[in-house]
Amino acid sequence: MDIAKIRADFPILTEQVNGRPVIYLDNAATTQKPRSVLAAVDGYYEHTNANVHRAIHTLGERATAAYEASRARVARFIHAPAPETIVFVRNASEALNLVAYAWGSRLRAGDEIVLTPMEHHSNLIPWQLLCKRSGAVLRFIPLRDDGTLDMERAPIGARTKIVSVTHASNVLGTLTPAAELAARAHAAGAIFMLDAAQSVPHMPVDVQALDCDFLAFSGHKVYGPMGIGVLYGKRALLEEMDPFLGGGEMILEVHLDHATWNDVPWKFEAGTPNVGGAVGLAAALDYLDGLGLPAVAAHERELTEAAVNMLDEIPGVTVYGPRGERGALVSFTVEGIHPHDLSQVLDEESVAVRAGHHCCQPLMRQLGVVATARASFACYNTLEEVEALGAAVRKAQSFFGSVPH
Ligand SMILES: *Cc1c(COP(=O)(O)O)cnc(C)c1O
Repeated sequence: MDIAKIRADFPILTEQVNGRPVIYLDNAATTQKPRSVLAAVDGYYEHTNANVHRAIHTLGERATAAYEASRARVARFIHAPAPETIVFVRNASEALNLVAYAWGSRLRAGDEIVLTPMEHHSNLIPWQLLCKRSGAVLRFIPLRDDGTLDMERAPIGARTKIVSVTHASNVLGTLTPAAELAARAHAAGAIFMLDAAQSVPHMPVDVQALDCDFLAFSGHKVYGPMGIGVLYGKRALLEEMDPFLGGGEMILEVHLDHATWNDVPWKFEAGTPNVGGAVGLAAALDYLDGLGLPAVAAHERELTEAAVNMLDEIPGVTVYGPRGERGALVSFTVEGIHPHDLSQVLDEESVAVRAGHHCCQPLMRQLGVVATARASFACYNTLEEVEALGAAVRKAQSFFGSVPH
């Protein structure tokens, strides 16, 4: 991969932060957008924009075609069997909520929902709310000390109705055995949902090979616009579910006291959708496929490994999560420096990292920290930027006088 050429595709990477081009290492929170995505969104609004599905005029037909073509593009990207198995939502959070409400309405007291302790709040809170409504209970697959799942103690059994797990932890970088989890869930008569917010941008994901019943991801973490996300669902499940939100578009026939529903997936897309966002997401997936996901994954693996090794060697730095195979991020703390202060000093060195609980408060508690700093990588990052991170961390240590002896 020609990284210089890739970087030229992202206008924001020349943006000055404290006198230098930004060193953007906050890609797990959101990625930057290549010119082709910006152009696709602009082009949509300049040449195509109209509301979709009901218009009997040319622009309306073009907008509908663009929207549905984007759906087909997403289906192809994750190897979904048909465009109709793709529901456009705002983000991964909405996809997870949709399943917890619409599919979850069948759960009863005593039913069990299996998660892990490293789930993003988006894959925890919707299930907590469902437990309140239904009397179902949460069970957790324990984490080993190295940040991997203890599959031998996975509480998947006769009461399990759904196993919903992140594919790649946004804190630890842990990759979970999705296919094995799906098989275990199915053997117990349960369904399997994969939170792929941190995997779809970084590795090939095949919903059929993994045998996911549902899968969620966000457009903005995969070089697409904010405000567009994806729920994949097996068609039979989507068809037997009631709608999540009501309104225009999702109905077939409406009477004052009752209504019937549109076909899948439109049944789940109440109101005017984010057509420009869907078009931008399709352009983002084109861009990523153009680079080649295996090449992107190899590049990011090199950066992540370099970052983990480098941080491991700085006295006073603790790196969290498994060594070896992991997602494209590294969480760490520096002895004597609160992660918020650290990230502020790094920002002065033009290095953008995230500091906080990363929407994983229970995991922070298990790690025994209130927060961590996190550097996360994308296709456009370089080894020089990893080195700049290391230099900035050392500078912060001398600034705070916290260099361990
Ligand atoms: C970011 C993230 C989410 C939520 O994504 P939103 O775009 O904020 O809805 C869910 N799960 C994981 C693992 C994430 O990293």
